[in-house]
Amino acid sequence: MKKYIVLTFVFLISFFLFGCSKKQEELNDLQVVKNRGYIIVGVKTDSPPFGFYDKKNRLVGFDIDIAYALAERIFGENSPANVQFVPVNAQNRISKLNSGEVDVLVATMSVNNKRKLILEFSTPYFVANQKILIRKTSKITHLQYFNKEGRLAVIMGTTGEKIARLVAPNANLIGAKSYLEAYNLLVNKQVDAVLGDDCILGGYINDDLKIVNHPYSREYYAVAIRKSGKSKELLNSVNSAIVAILDDKKLNLITKKWILY
Ligand code: GLU
Repeated sequence: MKKYIVLTFVFLISFFLFGCSKKQEELNDLQVVKNRGYIIVGVKTDSPPFGFYDKKNRLVGFDIDIAYALAERIFGENSPANVQFVPVNAQNRISKLNSGEVDVLVATMSVNNKRKLILEFSTPYFVANQKILIRKTSKITHLQYFNKEGRLAVIMGTTGEKIARLVAPNANLIGAKSYLEAYNLLVNKQVDAVLGDDCILGGYINDDLKIVNHPYSREYYAVAIRKSGKSKELLNSVNSAIVAILDDKKLNLITKKWILY
């Protein structure tokens, strides 16, 4: 008798545990986010004015405000507690999304066809151009210059790296891990230009540097979401949130607050 009671108990516990874990497995990405009570957002922390630490060491910027605005629409309340930020860079952001470390990326991420094969993208929320940042004393006017001479910095894993290989295939390319690293290479005269998104390069302009006003591509920043059978609802929710911040002019306000270039 005692044996049967133990067996029944074990069966009930297993059934309960199995039932629960199965239920958890069946939740879509939006339900997981809502059950958790906050969304985990991968953001840049070294790309002013999109994601960076201010003088008081607070994480701020255009993408940070976008993330808060999206969370406000997803959770129906305006609370910073609804967002948790995880720093990402151009080299690790896709793997951090696909491993589940973050739910979405709001990380100066341009939509392109290659990325669309492995990720879902929301409606775009910003448009950038690829341009070059040079020293003010420089006479360089075009990217093609680097086919013959000079050294060009690109940030590895970005669309800038791709454009450089297309437009200046013979260039002496120096791969930097971040915009800050590329900026330091330029300031220290280890390279002659940095190719990147104009709006991020704009955050690095100082009295000695300038951007050459010749665009090499038009790029749309969008929120990146995992491509899986469970992501459709989260994608729809993010898209509705973007439409809402377009309609109520919040996106306009965020753009005016941060984008100076
Ligand atoms: N927007 C470009 C990209 O998605 C470059 C900026 C970045 O490093 O995020 O590759």
